[in-house]
Amino acid sequence: MNKHVVIIGGGVGGLFTGALLARNGCRVTVLEKNRIIGGGLQCFMRRGELYETGMHILGGFQEGGCLNKICRYLGIMDLLNIRPTDDDAIDAITYWEGGPTTYRIPRGRQRFVSYLSGLFPEEAIGLRRYVDTLYRIADEIDLFNLRRPVEGFVDHGPEFLMPADQLIAQYVTDFRLRDLLAYMNPMYGGVAGHTPAYIHAMINVLYIEGSSLFGGGGQHLADALAEVIRDRGGEVLTSDAVVHIATADRQVQKVITCSGREYVGDIYVSDIHPTTLLRLADEGAFPRAYRMRLEEIPNTYSAFVLYLKFRPGTVPYVNHPCYYQERYGLVWQHAENYEAPDWPLGFMYLTPPDKKQGPYASRMTVNCLMSFDEVRQWTDTTVTHRGPEYEAWKEWNVQRIMAKLERLLPGISDCVEYRFAASPLTIRDYYGSKEGTLYGYRQDCENMALSQLHIATKLRNLLLTGQNIYLHGICGVPLTAIVTAEAILGPGVLLEQINPTHHEHGKV
Ligand SMILES: Cc1cc2nc3c(=O)[nH]c(=O)nc-3n(C[C@H](O)[C@H](O)[C@H](O)COP(=O)(O)OP(=O)(O)OC[C@H]3O[C@@H](n4cnc5c(N)ncnc54)[C@H](O)[C@@H]3O)c2cc1C
Repeated sequence: MNKHVVIIGGGVGGLFTGALLARNGCRVTVLEKNRIIGGGLQCFMRRGELYETGMHILGGFQEGGCLNKICRYLGIMDLLNIRPTDDDAIDAITYWEGGPTTYRIPRGRQRFVSYLSGLFPEEAIGLRRYVDTLYRIADEIDLFNLRRPVEGFVDHGPEFLMPADQLIAQYVTDFRLRDLLAYMNPMYGGVAGHTPAYIHAMINVLYIEGSSLFGGGGQHLADALAEVIRDRGGEVLTSDAVVHIATADRQVQKVITCSGREYVGDIYVSDIHPTTLLRLADEGAFPRAYRMRLEEIPNTYSAFVLYLKFRPGTVPYVNHPCYYQERYGLVWQHAENYEAPDWPLGFMYLTPPDKKQGPYASRMTVNCLMSFDEVRQWTDTTVTHRGPEYEAWKEWNVQRIMAKLERLLPGISDCVEYRFAASPLTIRDYYGSKEGTLYGYRQDCENMALSQLHIATKLRNLLLTGQNIYLHGICGVPLTAIVTAEAILGPGVLLEQINPTHHEHGKV
């Protein structure tokens, strides 16, 4: 096996797919548009300080976790700076309504149930059944468990494709607990009535079992993956966006980058948003129905991100993400109420750990979900050239977020050395993602046939990878990378090596 695989996009999916292929004898060339590789793992420097563009909250890196197994297989696990969140609080959620109440969610299935049952004793039986259901659903997902999928029809239970909010409501009656159990919603772009229960189950089980944070940002994971590729004779090239995909006879012939270079491979893998891919390919490369379908699948919402740099020794470091909720009943509506005068009605904030973390935080990141509609009027602008109105709008949003943070952490404004923000436009332009979508295509249990995209395309030698296919995030994208790489290497080849104890899986 010495196939040459050209990968468009050096983000999480491109790098994991490339590293898995390189480890198995393929010659890999990764083409990345940005100066720095990594996509969601990419970090950038501002005034000598390191900031993460995206990925903060991790799952699956604990011993026995799926990410741990994949990274061990690639020989990079011991190079990673992974910091488990606190055992007694993987997350803290503060509700402001009726006097602030903070819930501190402990790690582990039993402790999760016991803690919440203690607070909502009348819900104890429902809670236990709900958590059992989450784990049963997560166990039904072969890929999540690094098992080779069963061939043919898979008969999932009736709850697998139920809307996540309905699943919760089926087991729990207290409206506060219903809201609380959905606090991870921003981590998967959830939409009431649409997001399937299996996504909710997978993310919850992933974090309850072992959530963690990168020490010093996620860039070092991207760099380690690139080294796996380079060590085996491959290349990871930056600052060279693919601008054209030349096709003939239903195959890719070559890709051309903005520097005018041409790359010819045996197989091509796209890690970019599928609608961007459409625009790069020759007209007529894909059938009209396929193009329309890719354009029509709704995307998950975007975010407004506030970065704060603290004066040294002023703000204590907190070893877990925190969530703010204005009041109960809004957790499914964060991205819809951005026009409310009291926006933001909810957000996630955390003090990302430094490489060596002391008792004080150097930085804070605040993520507020936001629809692209908010910035649509500036859609044709580019980074640093968006005009004074846009800058004023950003500053207005920053002040609204700061007002909420002041409630939670009185005096925090005085600790800030400087601050800056990113909008859905920034996210769009950094990642090249449609409308700055956080997690790509929205999985919709009302129309699974529309939202589930296959890795194979209408071009025989072009495969897809990344968050738009199957699953998103730090866990989902590497799992999708396995599927893409196995389409080249052969079914089951990787899963058998990564998880040798796995067995053929029948219905659970
Ligand atoms: C603000 C934010 C916060 C997030 N937080 C978390 C989190 O805490 N935990 C979590 O698990 N997930 C998080 N995510 C989601 C996670 O980052 C994504 O699911 C993941 O990065 C998707 O991987 P990908 O490979 O599909 O895309 P990306 O990682 O975005 O990679 C795509 C790559 O393609 C490149 N590219 C685009 N166009 C071209 C072109 N024409 N030529 C060459 N290269 C091109 C891009 O520059 C990029 O590097 C967050 C996302 C955002 C935006």
